Amino acid sequence: MQVNGFNPDELTPSSGSFIGGQYIPGDGTEYEVIRPSDGHLIRTERGASATLVDRAVTEAAKAFKTSGWAARPPRERAKVLFRWAGLIEEHLEEIASLESLASCRLINETRHLDVGVTAEGIRFFAEAIDKLDGKVLASEENVMSMVVNEPYGVVAAISPWNVPLVLATLKIGPALAAGNAVVLKPSELTPYSILRVAELAHEAGVPAGQLAVLPGLGPETGSALVRHPLVNYVSFTGSTATGKQVMIDAANTGLKPVCLELGGKSPQLVFRDAPSLDRVADRIAGSICFNAGQVCFAGTRLVVDEKIGDELTEKIARRLKNPKPGPTWDTETTLSPIISAKQGARIADILRDAKTAGAEIVMGGKREETGNGGVFFQPTIVRNTKPDNAVILNEVFGPVLAVQSFSGVEEGIALADHPVYGLAGAVHTSDINKALLAAKSIPAGTVWVNTFGELSLNAPFGGYKQSGFGRDYGMTGLAKYLNTKTIHIRLN
Ligand code: NAD
Repeated sequence: MQVNGFNPDELTPSSGSFIGGQYIPGDGTEYEVIRPSDGHLIRTERGASATLVDRAVTEAAKAFKTSGWAARPPRERAKVLFRWAGLIEEHLEEIASLESLASCRLINETRHLDVGVTAEGIRFFAEAIDKLDGKVLASEENVMSMVVNEPYGVVAAISPWNVPLVLATLKIGPALAAGNAVVLKPSELTPYSILRVAELAHEAGVPAGQLAVLPGLGPETGSALVRHPLVNYVSFTGSTATGKQVMIDAANTGLKPVCLELGGKSPQLVFRDAPSLDRVADRIAGSICFNAGQVCFAGTRLVVDEKIGDELTEKIARRLKNPKPGPTWDTETTLSPIISAKQGARIADILRDAKTAGAEIVMGGKREETGNGGVFFQPTIVRNTKPDNAVILNEVFGPVLAVQSFSGVEEGIALADHPVYGLAGAVHTSDINKALLAAKSIPAGTVWVNTFGELSLNAPFGGYKQSGFGRDYGMTGLAKYLNTKTIHIRLN
């Protein structure tokens, strides 16, 4: 195969589960790992059964008690994590290619963004380990009352396919930094890059058993992991529907604390005094095309002042004609494939329902026929939508922008508030009062003003409403992996 990124046929990823510092063959249900770029079967894999989950969690619980990881001086743990980050960067090309093989992430992005963010994310939490202090409380003279932070023990982490490596390591990194043992179940669609990265963690000095990675199907491997009695905390990123099931399972099997990072339907609230409609159009088109819209916080709802709606829609449409669909391993590609034929069909179904309910497809609306076996979807704009239209209510997870228009500030802010989701949103205006009013009024975990999609490792990220609760990233993203204990000491 002639390619200018990497040759997918030459990659031979490791299979099975990574437990106790070695690969163990899967013993559960078989599933196929497909290259979304061309539909090619990479391999039929076997996931981890409940028996293998039990082995990994039991080893993790033992490692938590006996490896000495949590008891090490924080700077010693940090040194290991720094070594791990360094090894990831040393293997940049290999990891970027493994990431782009089975996922929708383009090689230009995995090389220049994902692998770097992964390493920097681990460094951030390594640096943060000794910055979280306990407290000594005000108390009567002969009593000393203090608050100390303690790791939970075994953390179950479950991650999705859309930005697989970054989302998995930004759970593993802080959970390990806090002293826990971690058992991760990555998405069965994208198991390879994180297996290799876990191997590098072991090479860097993370004790055997302290970190395990178990690919497999959600209802089999994921569910057994969440329900395991030795799991003390569950950190989940994925869809709202699965998040609800995870919460039920965690509650019914020991009332384990959960953190849920779920779906979104972010508004781009554009007032007529937005500083530059061209810049707004750039940001919206960029968000619709990045990973072909398969991003939890994608700004897929344009909530726009009716006076500028047509002009802005036309500017966005012009920009959405440019992206070039193609394989993830081709450096010329700018529009990712859709993860699966099932997901491609789901996008088409939502658009069909939207049209039936009276919406107008301004551009796109169909699968892009590239003729190479991959599933691609045309960048799409839908307008004349009503708040109860399928394309407004649902997270589409494709390159689809739905337009809603308003005629006054209050109506705009009310429309920006989604009935289900509250992950993120953006406000575009030159008026600082309007910007602050909207930013404070939109119930979402992140609000951008006159920009979109900027994330920072030190900024907590997570949802309101059914976009979940708990935060990843930042000091909050580390603190959540620590339990709080109060100790009262009588001094006489
Ligand atoms: P998904 O819910 O289908 O799967 C997520 C993970 O859960 C996978 O590893 C899956 O195998 C596992 N799983 C499935 N059933 C399970 C069960 N019963 N018990 C335990 N685990 C189970 O989601 P997906 O399609 O992989 O990812 C896309 C979704 O993730 C979108 O909704 C997106 O918005 C969301 N997401 C959210 C964030 C965020 O930070 N809020 C980030 C990325 C993706």
